[in-house]
Amino acid sequence: MRLSLYVHIPFCHRLCWYCGCNTKATQRYAPVGGYLSPVESEIAGVASLLPGRHSVAHMHWGGGSPNILTAGDIGKIASALRNAFIIERRAEFAVEIDPRHMDGEKIRRSSSSTLTASPSSATRACPSAPNING
Ligand code: SF4
Repeated sequence: MRLSLYVHIPFCHRLCWYCGCNTKATQRYAPVGGYLSPVESEIAGVASLLPGRHSVAHMHWGGGSPNILTAGDIGKIASALRNAFIIERRAEFAVEIDPRHMDGEKIRRSSSSTLTASPSSATRACPSAPNING
């Protein structure tokens, strides 16, 4: 069975007034970092409920702004995904970002959850983010 996976990171640095996403604003990293372990557990838990090891054809990171995570924590989630599933060589990868808080290392780490994603084409900014007030 080919899977499509979605990783939800429900945090942003600020809330846009028109946002309809399931997210919350935080200026502290503690609640974001605290979310890492439950995500890793859920990845392992979902994989353990499936018979056999399945391949992943589509990977989407959304939120919220997944790039609120540190590059190191992005890498931990990517590693958990690679350990739990077989990521197809040509798996499609997408991530919603707040472009004000993105850098090359975060792109590299998040796209490493797939094996062949091209960082230059793998990211798409949250469509609303450029209009964020504040
Ligand atoms: S960056 Fe996106 S997810 Fe975050 S508050 Fe703005 S519209 Fe919502």
